[in-house]
Amino acid sequence: MTNATHPFDALMEITARPPTVFVRGEGSLLWDDSGKRYLDFVQGWAVNCLGHSPAVVAEALAAQAKLLLTPSPAFYNGPSLKLAKVLVDHSCFDQVFFTNSGAEANEGAIKLARKYGVLRKNGAHEIITFEGGFHGRTLATMSASGKKAFEPLFEPKVPGFPKARLNDLASVKRLITEKTIAVMLEPIQGEAGVWPATDQFLRDLRDLTSARGLLLIVDEIQTGIGRTGKLFHYEHAGIEPDIMTLGKGIGGGVPLAALLATDAASCFEHGDQGGTFNGNPLMCAAGLAVMRQVADPDFLKSVADTGLYLESELQRMSARHGLGEVRGRGLLLALDLKHPIAASIVAQAFQDGVLLNAPRPDALRLMPALNVTREEIALMIDALDAVLAKLGAARRVA
Ligand SMILES: *Cc1c(COP(=O)(O)O)cnc(C)c1O
Repeated sequence: MTNATHPFDALMEITARPPTVFVRGEGSLLWDDSGKRYLDFVQGWAVNCLGHSPAVVAEALAAQAKLLLTPSPAFYNGPSLKLAKVLVDHSCFDQVFFTNSGAEANEGAIKLARKYGVLRKNGAHEIITFEGGFHGRTLATMSASGKKAFEPLFEPKVPGFPKARLNDLASVKRLITEKTIAVMLEPIQGEAGVWPATDQFLRDLRDLTSARGLLLIVDEIQTGIGRTGKLFHYEHAGIEPDIMTLGKGIGGGVPLAALLATDAASCFEHGDQGGTFNGNPLMCAAGLAVMRQVADPDFLKSVADTGLYLESELQRMSARHGLGEVRGRGLLLALDLKHPIAASIVAQAFQDGVLLNAPRPDALRLMPALNVTREEIALMIDALDAVLAKLGAARRVA
């Protein structure tokens, strides 16, 4: 027995966290244990697509919890069958494998592509991924990521992930060999700072991979489930990928993720893939509640409209303070600050009761609930104006 001296000490220290304990959330608002209220534009890292603790998810969880938690992944259950059908009906994919995290879904996508390579392409196994990409924190998904900070960690990496440059088709072509089986990317690189692949680049990649017999894998863990104003981002480009992964928003706040594949790419055999909690009815019931709301065309239209509103408000604010461009789509946006002031903005905003995220030293990322209101956006913009004024004044005094 050890004597933890502070309640924080018993948790592994894996990142810098403010010394605050959060106890309750509702919509775009979050409260800590001192009763302080925050306006949340992080939403669990683009997870709470319907805001904090939405009634539809809470009710679905409560109802399912009383019925059945886990029969075993070796038996069928109702919610997973229903959710798979809804996802298949609303996408270009034919089959689904549920997972508990985005990284696990991507790990499954990588295994599926390698299996496809064994069955159809003489054991080809390399998957071309992208500089700046982020696919998760398991060993294979860290290896697939193109994040500089990951490079020295946990060597040796899983081999077979050569890196191309986003929006540079020639850099992809140069990496294709007889060992290549797939190209995998995020339609918008989220963790890197919201860097979008152009629709033309996505179409070019689809043409290239089809012509060379390669699979196209889209990691829509951040961009999927309505985040960009379409149910799935690939729809903007008018393409049909072979494999897609979902996470974050699909559970509306609970751990749920998914691997989807077309009939042609869906080639797992018994024993290739599985997991104790995969497709458990409790999480799938939450996913169904989320999909019922988000797949509604009127809801998606409102996400697109709100996204345009947030974008224009950010652009006006950027002009007021001499900042840089606004990047992204729908409700996944970044404001370029042109200077490494993101950390001080996030810290001051936290003091002022607004939660913001800085994916890099010179950018803020906005990923509010998909049902955030214009009033909440106006409050966030006012708060950000005040933070920038304070920091500007502090800089002039210094
Ligand atoms: C968050 C994220 C992941 C990892 O998902 P986890 O649930 O944290 O494992 C993978 N890819 C993208 C694009 C993400 O945004």
